[in-house]
Amino acid sequence: MGQYSSIRAAGLLYGMEDPEQEKYAEVRILESRFGQLDTVDLIKAMVRDVFPDQIAVVSSFGAESAVLLHLLSQVDKNVPILFVDTKKHFGETKKYRDDLAKELGLTDVRSIHLDPKREREVDPKGTLFMRDPDLCCAIRKTEPLNAALKGFNAWISGRKRFQAASRADIPVFETEEGRIKVNPLADWTPADLTAYAKKHGLLSHPLVKEGYLSIGCMPCTDRVKAGEDARAGRWRGVAKIECGIHGKGIEADGSGI
Ligand code: SF4
Repeated sequence: MGQYSSIRAAGLLYGMEDPEQEKYAEVRILESRFGQLDTVDLIKAMVRDVFPDQIAVVSSFGAESAVLLHLLSQVDKNVPILFVDTKKHFGETKKYRDDLAKELGLTDVRSIHLDPKREREVDPKGTLFMRDPDLCCAIRKTEPLNAALKGFNAWISGRKRFQAASRADIPVFETEEGRIKVNPLADWTPADLTAYAKKHGLLSHPLVKEGYLSIGCMPCTDRVKAGEDARAGRWRGVAKIECGIHGKGIEADGSGI
């Protein structure tokens, strides 16, 4: 039994009356025990020791997804990877999902969808993104992801602090909706990602070379101009910066997811 599992077995995380308080205590213990590890060792600890068979990775198979997925493949190729298929993705993204999973030998990529009944009721014409993008993200991203995460105690996200001002403070460990969320790439820089991808010869999303630095749904993704945040092309012209899987209940952006 690993170090952290011993802590849990000893009951040190239990006995608190408030489940949220218990999760915050768990975050503090995780930071103290694992916060100094390098990225691959951190992922290894989470997958093998802390949350064996209880953790998933959420990936948009976007512009920067290959680095996290390659790191994961070095640890365990069988960890569930959740891809939220909004039915609004670029065709290039779905092909990239399949090509990258094959190249890295990932065996459990799960495409999750919104409930067809919910789609018929709320967005029968598929044009909700034009009228109410928050609701569109809720039914196409947040709700399906929340449902898919029900069987897991923790999940791994690829968000980075440099991606946008709204992500400048993301911690490595956080708690959300009663689960632990791990952001192992939080402090990676664009140069780190580029160097890693080059060193390992990683397959790149085909739209990156066309100027898309953050890739989500086709109607809500634009090219990024020089000097802009990587996520500046997401929901351009709309007062919206995240989809709701991260943060208040339910954002799934993509590269971060
Ligand atoms: S990113 Fe756009 S199309 Fe995709 S779910 Fe959100 S609002 Fe809908």
